[in-house]
Amino acid sequence: MTRVRQRTASERTPPSSKQLMSPFQTFAARLVRPVSLSAQTRHLEFEISGTTRFGFVAGQWLSFKTNKPDGEEITRAYSIASPPGEDSRFALCLNRVQDGFMSNYLCDMKAGDEISCQGPFGDFILRPPLRDTVFIATGTGIAPFRSMLHWLLDDSVRHQDKQLWLLFGNRTEVDIYYHEEFLALAARHPNVHYLPTLSRSAPEWGGLRGYVQEHVPAIVQGRTDMHAYICGLDKMIKANRELLKGLGWDRKSILYEKYD
Ligand SMILES: Cc1cc2nc3c(=O)[nH]c(=O)nc-3n(C[C@H](O)[C@H](O)[C@H](O)COP(=O)(O)OP(=O)(O)OC[C@H]3O[C@@H](n4cnc5c(N)ncnc54)[C@H](O)[C@@H]3O)c2cc1C
Repeated sequence: MTRVRQRTASERTPPSSKQLMSPFQTFAARLVRPVSLSAQTRHLEFEISGTTRFGFVAGQWLSFKTNKPDGEEITRAYSIASPPGEDSRFALCLNRVQDGFMSNYLCDMKAGDEISCQGPFGDFILRPPLRDTVFIATGTGIAPFRSMLHWLLDDSVRHQDKQLWLLFGNRTEVDIYYHEEFLALAARHPNVHYLPTLSRSAPEWGGLRGYVQEHVPAIVQGRTDMHAYICGLDKMIKANRELLKGLGWDRKSILYEKYD
């Protein structure tokens, strides 16, 4: 699996509000570096033309716009997969959807190509004060959590040694995007618990097996004073929300972003 470059600490400081671009401004994003995360999935690093700094909050998304060959305009949302930084860069983590136009268009882009986008949008962002938190993702639903975790862990004032679980579900081991990176984060931060789980694991897989929701009760251990952030496809989000509500959680403690 290809390694993804980590930003330095100075690149990860969030911008002040006066440097934020207007979310309704359309800008051109130039692909700087495409990285294959698996056969169908890419990590794409973009740079926004005409600005030195791009402000957003970890967890937000951008709206990408292009035209199909018949001229029809198409827009699609993609979560930002990198933490806020001091520059005009951001990254996406996306997979090819069968017969989908935008996902394949973005995955086919070459370094130097440009695409139009607007944003940042969305309120799937960390709610203060930070609590012990479980982040639950499947597939490319990992994108906002990569942004949030790097931002939080960059500064102990932000994460305050709260216990942070990352429960990440995929089918097989090759589908675990950013695996080495999350292992390294967990090794550096005793308060980070990285739990990849596989639904179609090989016999030699030594980690968790099954769907993400099967592991949530063991993480929360009867507690209802935590936050859960969930990101991915509707079915998985529903299963986890129902489970947590059944465990007595207040719905305000369960935040989610649906991709479909
Ligand atoms: C707020 C938000 C953030 C998102 N962030 C990301 C992200 O970070 N990474 C990412 O890969 N995607 C993300 N998505 C999904 C993305 O916006 C597109 O829906 C997806 O890439 C498909 O677009 P398309 O034009 O290729 O296919 P479409 O033409 O829209 O869809 C083709 C077919 O695939 C189905 N489909 C649509 N989306 C998916 C999907 N995700 N998985 C399986 N089947 C699907 C559709 O129902 C349709 O039948 C996000 C969606 C939202 C709403």
